[in-house]
Amino acid sequence: MQQCSFCGNKHLKTTVTEYTYRQNGAYMIFQNVPAIQCEFCGEKYFDANTLKRIESEFIAVKNGTRHTKEIRVPIEDFSALDVA
Ligand SMILES: [Zn+2]
Repeated sequence: MQQCSFCGNKHLKTTVTEYTYRQNGAYMIFQNVPAIQCEFCGEKYFDANTLKRIESEFIAVKNGTRHTKEIRVPIEDFSALDVA
Protein backbone atom coordinates (compact mmCIF):
# COMPACT_ATOMS: atom_id res chain seq x y z
CA MET A 1 0.00 0.00 0.00
CA GLN A 2 1.42 3.37 -1.06
CA GLN A 3 -0.97 5.78 0.57
CA CYS A 4 -3.97 5.98 2.87
CA SER A 5 -7.11 5.48 0.80
CA PHE A 6 -9.04 7.38 3.47
CA CYS A 7 -7.11 10.68 3.60
CA GLY A 8 -4.42 10.25 0.93
CA ASN A 9 -1.52 10.62 3.37
CA LYS A 10 1.61 8.71 2.28
CA HIS A 11 3.12 8.13 5.71
CA LEU A 12 2.10 4.65 6.76
CA LYS A 13 3.65 2.60 9.55
CA THR A 14 3.44 -1.01 10.64
CA THR A 15 1.85 -1.59 14.02
CA VAL A 16 -0.07 -4.13 16.06
CA THR A 17 -3.58 -3.48 17.22
CA GLU A 18 -6.73 -4.99 18.65
CA TYR A 19 -9.21 -6.26 16.08
CA THR A 20 -12.85 -7.00 16.82
CA TYR A 21 -14.30 -9.59 14.49
CA ARG A 22 -18.08 -9.63 14.19
CA GLN A 23 -20.30 -12.15 12.45
CA ASN A 24 -24.06 -12.61 12.90
CA GLY A 25 -24.05 -10.87 16.26
CA ALA A 26 -21.12 -12.90 17.62
CA TYR A 27 -17.92 -11.10 18.52
CA MET A 28 -14.34 -12.14 18.95
CA ILE A 29 -11.49 -9.87 19.96
CA PHE A 30 -8.01 -10.50 18.57
CA GLN A 31 -5.03 -8.86 20.25
CA ASN A 32 -1.66 -8.03 18.71
CA VAL A 33 -2.94 -8.15 15.13
CA PRO A 34 -0.40 -6.79 12.61
CA ALA A 35 -1.69 -3.79 10.66
CA ILE A 36 -0.61 -0.83 8.57
CA GLN A 37 -1.65 2.47 10.10
CA CYS A 38 -1.91 5.93 8.58
CA GLU A 39 0.17 8.33 10.69
CA PHE A 40 -2.17 11.20 9.88
CA CYS A 41 -5.74 9.97 10.37
CA GLY A 42 -5.07 6.73 12.22
CA GLU A 43 -6.96 4.54 9.75
CA LYS A 44 -5.78 0.93 9.97
CA TYR A 45 -5.40 -1.55 7.15
CA PHE A 46 -5.16 -5.30 7.44
CA ASP A 47 -3.56 -7.81 5.14
CA ALA A 48 -6.00 -10.13 3.35
CA ASN A 49 -4.20 -13.16 4.79
CA THR A 50 -4.49 -11.71 8.29
CA LEU A 51 -8.25 -11.29 7.87
CA LYS A 52 -8.56 -14.81 6.50
CA ARG A 53 -6.64 -16.20 9.49
CA ILE A 54 -8.92 -14.26 11.86
CA GLU A 55 -12.02 -15.67 10.20
CA SER A 56 -10.79 -19.26 10.33
CA GLU A 57 -9.83 -18.85 13.99
CA PHE A 58 -13.28 -17.42 14.74
CA ILE A 59 -14.92 -20.46 13.12
CA ALA A 60 -12.66 -22.88 15.02
CA VAL A 61 -13.54 -21.27 18.35
CA LYS A 62 -17.24 -21.07 17.49
CA ASN A 63 -17.28 -24.75 16.55
CA GLY A 64 -15.59 -25.63 19.82
CA THR A 65 -12.48 -27.09 18.22
CA ARG A 66 -10.43 -24.41 19.93
CA HIS A 67 -10.85 -22.79 23.30
CA THR A 68 -9.89 -19.30 24.29
CA LYS A 69 -10.38 -16.70 27.00
CA GLU A 70 -13.77 -15.04 27.25
CA ILE A 71 -14.95 -11.73 28.65
CA ARG A 72 -18.47 -10.55 29.38
CA VAL A 73 -19.32 -7.37 27.49
CA PRO A 74 -22.32 -5.25 28.56
CA ILE A 75 -24.24 -3.79 25.63
CA GLU A 76 -26.42 -0.71 25.96
CA ASP A 77 -28.61 0.96 23.35
CA PHE A 78 -27.83 4.63 23.88
CA SER A 79 -31.08 5.75 22.23
CA ALA A 80 -32.98 3.82 24.89
CA LEU A 81 -31.26 5.67 27.77
CA ASP A 82 -33.03 8.33 29.77
CA VAL A 83 -30.82 11.37 29.18
CA ALA A 84 -33.09 13.94 30.86
ZN1 LIG B 1 -5.13 8.51 6.51
